[in-house]
Amino acid sequence: MKAMSTKTLEKPDVDADADTGDDDDSPKFFHYVRKNKIAESAVMGNYVVALCGETFPVTKSAKPGSPVCPDCKKIYDRMKK
Ligand SMILES: [Zn+2]
Repeated sequence: MKAMSTKTLEKPDVDADADTGDDDDSPKFFHYVRKNKIAESAVMGNYVVALCGETFPVTKSAKPGSPVCPDCKKIYDRMKK
C-alpha cells in the first residue's frame, strides 16, 4: 500500500497577465441608439438595442473617437431620407 502523497498545490496559472492593458470591455464601435431607448434603459438598467440590432448595456458605450458601426450608419442614412 502506498502512502498518499500530499503535494503542495501551486498557484493556478490562469489569466495571470491575460490583460494587456487594453480593456476590451466596451464595444469597439459606436452604435446609434434611439434617444428614448437610452433614457429608458438608463432608468431600467437594461440593455439598449442599436439600430443594427446590437444589444449592449447602456452603461457601456464605445470610447470617444471610436468608429461608427457601419451597419448603424447605413440604417441611419436610410432613415434620414
Ligand atoms: Zn451598430
